[in-house]
Amino acid sequence: MEADHIYDYLERISNLIRMEARRSGTVKGLQPVQLEALHYLASCNRYSNTSLAVAEYLGLTKGTVSQTLAVLEGNGMIVKESDARDRRVVHLQLTETGRGLLAESIPPKMLRSALSSLPVEQRAGVDSALNQILQAMQSANQLKTFGACKTCRHHNILEDSNRRCELTGERLSGEDADKICREHQLPSQT
Ligand code: SF4
Repeated sequence: MEADHIYDYLERISNLIRMEARRSGTVKGLQPVQLEALHYLASCNRYSNTSLAVAEYLGLTKGTVSQTLAVLEGNGMIVKESDARDRRVVHLQLTETGRGLLAESIPPKMLRSALSSLPVEQRAGVDSALNQILQAMQSANQLKTFGACKTCRHHNILEDSNRRCELTGERLSGEDADKICREHQLPSQT
């Protein structure tokens, strides 16, 4: 059956990606889950860089995430900063050391090199198909989409070309537009 084959491919690819992440992370004393948390924090926006959002994104318990973040903080990969408006909210920011490690490790060289061997149209096709599978699975399981801000139904490009989040009412930069967000909703969602 087609789904069996696709599952086999995805599982095998995931294992290879984890294997390489384990190798590169181990060099710096990190486990794959710690590298995944670091990658999430580098990709998310300012509304999503909290321990709760890390737990939601990775599908982990708060306890596991708290241990993961403690290791990252202890290794100097992240720092904690209290929110300027609500001191109870703690934001997790990458340090230069954390960014440097990520740049060396993600995306894994093995994946980068395999993808670069495909023609451009085929790469775009893989990208689009995987995106659709992800969205369908998230929707069926009523999970947060964690999509890029520019694809959110609340993302508004104003007449003067500035951007605004219609959920928070705050201005967004071009850099914000590419970040992922825990409040993201697809245009088809209500
Ligand atoms: S527009 Fe959507 S994705 Fe962007 S910050 Fe607002 S809620 Fe998040």
